[in-house]
Amino acid sequence: MSQDAPSRKDLTAVKGTRDILPEEVGAWRAVEALARETFERYGYRELRAPVIEPTELYEKSSGQTSDIVTKEMYTFIDKGGRSVTLRPEYTPSVVRAVIEHRLDLQPQPMRYFYMGPMFRYDKPQKGRYRQFHQIDVEVFGEKDPAIDAEIIEMVDAFLAALRVPDTEILVNSVGDRKCRPAYGRALREAALNRLADLCPDCQRKAETNPLRIFDCKVESCREAARSFPSILDYLCDECRDHFQKFLGYLDLFRIPYRVDPRLVRGLDYYTKTTFEIVSGRLGAQNSLVGGGRYDDMMKDFGGPDICATGFAMGMERLLSVVDLGLPKRPFLYLAYLGQEAKRAGLEMARAFRRGGVECLVEFKDRGMKAHFARANKLEAAWVLTVGEDELRRGRYGLKEMAGGRQVEGTPEELLAAILVR
Ligand code: AMP
Repeated sequence: MSQDAPSRKDLTAVKGTRDILPEEVGAWRAVEALARETFERYGYRELRAPVIEPTELYEKSSGQTSDIVTKEMYTFIDKGGRSVTLRPEYTPSVVRAVIEHRLDLQPQPMRYFYMGPMFRYDKPQKGRYRQFHQIDVEVFGEKDPAIDAEIIEMVDAFLAALRVPDTEILVNSVGDRKCRPAYGRALREAALNRLADLCPDCQRKAETNPLRIFDCKVESCREAARSFPSILDYLCDECRDHFQKFLGYLDLFRIPYRVDPRLVRGLDYYTKTTFEIVSGRLGAQNSLVGGGRYDDMMKDFGGPDICATGFAMGMERLLSVVDLGLPKRPFLYLAYLGQEAKRAGLEMARAFRRGGVECLVEFKDRGMKAHFARANKLEAAWVLTVGEDELRRGRYGLKEMAGGRQVEGTPEELLAAILVR
């Protein structure tokens, strides 16, 4: 080892990121497959955007005063001198892609989903990572409040299929550009009256964006926020009507929910509906799904005036509350004795794999006893034995490890015996 080589201790994943090891990947794939299948049943199609985007995209959309933009972005200058950012969320990428590829010229509404990593330079803790994964759903060009309820019904069906326990759906309306300014003024006044009770961060927010005080987890701020006026008293007729109809559709779908007038979500772009699904099993970071309507973003990006709604769900948090009880995938272990048997065994393994059976061949010459010990340790479902005797007779041994049942036959017969299981 040269003097400059890093020691083993230095070679760890970047703080706030983690490896997803093979024993976990099965659950990830099962959840991703269910998401694909569920969302496609509702007409959604996958859209894959890059992991890096121009920094400006987030400054424009997520809000100059939101924590994500002010504190949490992984932003750097690339070799061409451009400022780029590892995406902290997916919504702005989809909006950019719709405008860039003129997807709005296709028949509307458009429905997209995506799964992948997001990056936020937040303080890591349980359920909060710097690289985390979201499943994201967006709908464009559907202004009917029924769609806001339908995406909730869809994610509810998805969570029910995964048997996610102990969840609650919180809903709210944050109004729009017509009615929010009056609410903002009332909120600022209320916040300034309680300035002494607020943390330094919220004291600043009282001036810049008092709505963000509702995101704060400091108890004295939460306590103060409980005395603040409710946005629901400030909604204009259009927003109130949208909210009432949205709740009516949730009732139609028999989705239980709780109206929480303090649910403003951490991003500046929401209009009208916001919602969150929280879990009683998650501790401090209890939000599993978050979303809402963002009718102005497309227009604000210089695109067409198309309304939008959607949500994002955190994979790490979801996986920490589900117990999928996935069965181990059955596989066959090849136990060969001697070089000739090895060659014959390799040919059989090739045929078995083409027939759809998972086969493991380890290129270490072992005795039969050692082969079976190894197969046991790996929890193989079957062991195929190929020795001199078997070669001579053209008939091979197959042992089912769980029940101990042994059969003998030609390779074709044994493959058939495995496949009828
Ligand atoms: P947001 O994009 O902030 O609305 O978050 C949507 C969902 O993503 C949350 O409900 C969480 O499940 C998940 N999430 C957000 N931030 C993190 C993070 N830092 N680590 C892990 N999951 C996260």
